[in-house]
Amino acid sequence: MATPIELDDRGIIVSCASCGQKNRLAFTRLADTVRCAKCKGELAPPAAPMEIGTSADFDRLIAHASIPVVVDYWAPWCGPCRMVAPELEKVAARSAGRWLVVKVNTDALADLGARFGIRSIPTLAVFSGGREVSRASGARPAADIERFVAAATEVAHH
Ligand SMILES: [Zn+2]
Repeated sequence: MATPIELDDRGIIVSCASCGQKNRLAFTRLADTVRCAKCKGELAPPAAPMEIGTSADFDRLIAHASIPVVVDYWAPWCGPCRMVAPELEKVAARSAGRWLVVKVNTDALADLGARFGIRSIPTLAVFSGGREVSRASGARPAADIERFVAAATEVAHH
C-alpha cells in the first residue's frame, strides 16, 4: 500500500526517521540534502511510492518538483496494476532522491485521468520541468520501468 503524500504550498511533508519531527522537503530542492529542523539528522528522500490525494496536490507537485516525477495511473480493480505496484516500490527505493514515484488512483481522481487522456491502466508517465515528457501503458518489471524513465529524462535534458 502506498503512503499518502502530504503536501503544503511549498513542499512535501515528511517525518524524521530519527525523532518523528515533521519537516518540509521544498519542491524546488528535492535533489538536495535536507536536515531535520529538530535533531539535525539527515532526512532520507522519499523512497516509496506516494499516493496523490487531490488533483490540486498533483498540479502543485508537477509544476514545482525539481526532480522528475514518475506517475503510475492505476485503479483498485485493475489486475495488472497490482503486478506493477511491487515493481514501482523497487524503482522508488532505488531511485530515491533522483526521481519521485507517485500513484494516481483514476477512480478517486477521475478528473486527472480525463485531463491527461488516460485510456488504459496501468499507465506510467514521466513529468519533468512541469510537463509530461513520456508515457507508456501496460505492466512491466522494475528494470524496464527504470530504463523507460531514464530514457525519458535524458530526452528532457537535451
Ligand atoms: Zn529529527
